[in-house]
Amino acid sequence: MTRRYEIAVAGCGPAGLAAALLLERAGHRVTLVERFATPQPLGSGLILQPTGLAVLRELGLADALIARGSRLDRLYGLGATTDSVVLDVRYAALGPDAFGLGIHRGSLFEALFAAVTAGGIAVEIGCEVADVETGGGNVSLLLENGRRLGPFDLAIDATGARSPLIGRAFRPVRQRPLAYGAVWANAPLAEGFDPHALEQRYYRASVMVGVLPIGRRPEDERLLASFFWSLKPAEHAQWQARGLDAWKADVLRHWPQTAPMLETITSSEKLLLASYRHHALPVPAGRGLAFIGDAAHSTSPQLGQGANMGLLDAYALAVAVNEAADIAGALERYAELRRFHVRLYQAASRLFTPFYQSDSYVLPLLRDRLVPPLARLPGIDRQLALLVAGLYGDPLRALKLGPAFPTKPAFASVRA
Ligand SMILES: Cc1cc2nc3c(=O)[nH]c(=O)nc-3n(C[C@H](O)[C@H](O)[C@H](O)COP(=O)(O)OP(=O)(O)OC[C@H]3O[C@@H](n4cnc5c(N)ncnc54)[C@H](O)[C@@H]3O)c2cc1C
Repeated sequence: MTRRYEIAVAGCGPAGLAAALLLERAGHRVTLVERFATPQPLGSGLILQPTGLAVLRELGLADALIARGSRLDRLYGLGATTDSVVLDVRYAALGPDAFGLGIHRGSLFEALFAAVTAGGIAVEIGCEVADVETGGGNVSLLLENGRRLGPFDLAIDATGARSPLIGRAFRPVRQRPLAYGAVWANAPLAEGFDPHALEQRYYRASVMVGVLPIGRRPEDERLLASFFWSLKPAEHAQWQARGLDAWKADVLRHWPQTAPMLETITSSEKLLLASYRHHALPVPAGRGLAFIGDAAHSTSPQLGQGANMGLLDAYALAVAVNEAADIAGALERYAELRRFHVRLYQAASRLFTPFYQSDSYVLPLLRDRLVPPLARLPGIDRQLALLVAGLYGDPLRALKLGPAFPTKPAFASVRA
């Protein structure tokens, strides 16, 4: 390490918490800043890919999370009316120890936040960052309430896809709201569902129902799942007005086996709306400010990469800060370390999302015709698994991170 820096990290999501931990453990003085008075996880369960798990392993948190989560061996989707296979990705194509991990967002947050607390990292809560001010080689955070935090040698924006600082990026870009989002809720995984698979049903690309096993929680020892239903945020009010029973009837028409999970959803307030955006900063760092996670690049979660990309960003930034002679050099190195992988996955997400969430008639038709024969071609199974695992472009090697797969993990997802 060249110097001990004063570093501010805005945002207690997976990217911000991981960055704070990595930099504090490297000897820097870190202040975490979060808008909520009680830092808390936002959003549905998610899939930790081998990439994100490799970062969590470096932090010493992977085994505990694996013990809480659901080992995923397969992502599997059928046409709701045709029963044709329109998605079938098996991690085993990458080797016997390969897997993804379905995890409750609370489990991921608690593991990271407990480590932050144990590390004695200062957390400024109830502080909504509104802007930054740079000058004299330093950067300060300006809060919504008029307070100023700083000066710091480096500020890290990990405030997510709705970052108020995107306009301060070296080359700001416009975010594109995506037409489709989803409503989601957590529910006990019903009998008959594979506890080791993300399962989805599609009708064209306008209907998507998903069931993702996410392990167990201390407060509820049943095996849980996140349940998704594609919805346009613009039609959310209309959807609410139709009522819960009308919606349940729609879901059951497409996937009758979900009935026991639907029974646990007793009001439409239990279904939370997630809306998606797409953007990627061409230069994610400069002038004392680094963007990581969804603040640097947001997209639809179809490929299940966002949190994993954020964890990789955090790791890359920590490597760069520790290796470079100064902050300017570190920010250049960070951008360089992540450029290829981020561009690759943003492009893949942009390409594939309309096949699974859009109003197109043609794209899902192509999907239904092409996916089954393509999936049978030799080697395609491995390419699909590499893409889903986040390993295309070899991001772990670039960061000297590894191994991608541990041996003999103990999973919570075996049915009691
Ligand atoms: C329905 C859904 C399913 C998903 N599934 C997956 C999946 O399977 N796998 C996957 O990897 N990803 C998935 N994602 C994407 C993933 O959730 C995000 O990519 C990830 O949470 C981004 O992490 P982050 O730390 O960058 O930001 P966030 O998780 O958004 O965290 C941002 C933090 O910053 C705080 N904050 C915001 N604004 C301010 C401010 N002005 N001042 C101070 N603090 C602020 C917030 O309160 C929050 O704590 C999914 C997303 C959705 C919506």
